[in-house]
Parts: sequence; C-alpha cells; structure tokens
Amino acid sequence: MLLCADIGGSFIDFALVHPDGRLEHRQTVPTPVADSENFIGALKALCAPYPGIPLHIAIAGVEDPLTGRVNAANIPCLNTLAVREQLSHHTQRLVRIGNDADCFALAEARFGAAKGHRNVFGLILGTGVGGGFVLDGQRVPGLGGVTGELGHAPAVIAPPFLADPEEALSLVPLFPCGCGQSGCLDTLAGARGLERLHVWAGGRAETSHAILTLWEQGDAQATKTMSVWMLYTSAALAHVINITGSTVVPVAGGLSNSAALIDALDRAVRDRILVPTTQPLLRRAMLGKNAGILGATCLGPEMCHEPC
Ligand SMILES: [Zn+2]
Repeated sequence: MLLCADIGGSFIDFALVHPDGRLEHRQTVPTPVADSENFIGALKALCAPYPGIPLHIAIAGVEDPLTGRVNAANIPCLNTLAVREQLSHHTQRLVRIGNDADCFALAEARFGAAKGHRNVFGLILGTGVGGGFVLDGQRVPGLGGVTGELGHAPAVIAPPFLADPEEALSLVPLFPCGCGQSGCLDTLAGARGLERLHVWAGGRAETSHAILTLWEQGDAQATKTMSVWMLYTSAALAHVINITGSTVVPVAGGLSNSAALIDALDRAVRDRILVPTTQPLLRRAMLGKNAGILGATCLGPEMCHEPC
C-alpha cells in the first residue's frame, strides 16, 4: 500500500491506495501555503496513523532532481525548500515527489485513456496550459524538474513587419505571461487565453464556456476566434508529437469538456505532424480528480513493478 497526496495551492487531497488502485480513508485538508512548518505538520498529521507506509506526492510544482529543492508558485512556503528530505525526516518514512502534470500523464498511461501506450503526452487545457510526459512508461526528470511543459515558451513571435489584413489573424500580439515571458501558449490556449483571444479577435467579453458554445453553434465571431486558437495550439502540439513520439494525448482541464474541441484539435494536429495517421491522437482524459493520486502511485516501484 501507499499513502498518496495530490497537493495544489488550495487543498491537499490524501488517500491510502491499495495495490488494486482502490482509494481508502480519502480526505481533503487546506494546503498551508505561507508557513513551511504548518505544511509539514499537516502532512505529518495525515501520515501519522500509517507508520512506515511510503508517501508519494503529486505537487503543483517541480522538484529539481539535482538539488531536491522545490519550486511551487502557488505554495510559496515550499520554494527553495528540500521538501522531500524534510518530510521524510518529520514523517519517518520514504517520500517521493512528482510534478502533478507528470502524475496526470502517468495515471492516464497506467489506468486511463492512454492505457497500454508507452509514450504519452498529457495535455491540460485548464485556466492555463500544462503538460506532463511519460517516455517508455516512465516519467522523465528534466532540467530543473521540468518536463512536458509546453505552456511556457514563446508560441507567438513578434512580426518583423506589418502584414496585410489577410494575414492579421495570424499576428496575435505578444500577451505578457505570468512566467515573465511574453507570447507563451499559456497566454492563448487555456480558458483565460481563449477569452483574451476572443476579445482581441473582435468578440465581446465572454466566458470560455460561452465562446465554445457559440463556436459549436456556428457563430461567425467565435469561429474566427477558434481558428486562431486552433492555429497556435495545434502548432505547439504538433511539435510535441514530433519530438516525443507520443502515440496518444489524453486531454484534461475545463476546455476538455468540449468533445468538439478535442475532435477539431486532434484533426488540426494530425494535419501538421510528420507522420500522417488516421487514428485519433487526442482523447479526453478519464481519471478526473483521481489522476494526481493515482499517478503518484507510479513515482516508485512499490505499486508499479511493470513500466506503465
Ligand atoms: Zn509563460
């Protein structure tokens, strides 16, 4: 058995996980974000009834594989802290930590929409854009702990000259991004990005849900917005598919509730990758709120003897 926690900026979702994937004693507590002693105390209290059982954590952040230090934008008290070492000491057990998007990809590869696939890119189209990556059934500890992160590199580049009006649709401005850069895919392709794009393309301020509904109804303005959204999102994903060799892309997050969006994005991506395929690559993720905890079970060999 394992103890697994999915830790975000608001809540810690915690459960005892049986070898068959069954979750028991599941509980949710607020995440202490301002004080690391409170954070460690919360995990210590959750683990106390289960002495010796390893703790696996999916966290909204990254752990540098070289230094063991964590960077978690929404849990500032952990930044630069060697969280695994501290938790291991205070809870008296083996602790492993993985990025929550990587855990999502691991979970979908082992239990969900990508079951049976060796190379899996997991795409999250939520408030922003995230991604996790499984290579040959395993997560890949990248530079600084980052792997599969397609949301935060420039997807939009500054045009060298003013193009004619016909090309204007492709000349999306360099919107500033929370990561400090400008023009990241995150500024366009998540729910907030889609809303921003819609206004830029001449639409009224609408929720992402409303824009997608209008698009599915054939609204001209929403169709214009979505053509730009599709251009940039499919381009970034085509790079990902060509580079990673992923054979399936489970899609999670609020925008994934639109089957029409997944279908259209899938077709746009398959039109732009190097090797044509008639098989859909994008699928809606299956595991929902359980993905973090189930993916955390795959962070070590205890319950993941076979590669995912
Ligand atoms: Zn960014």
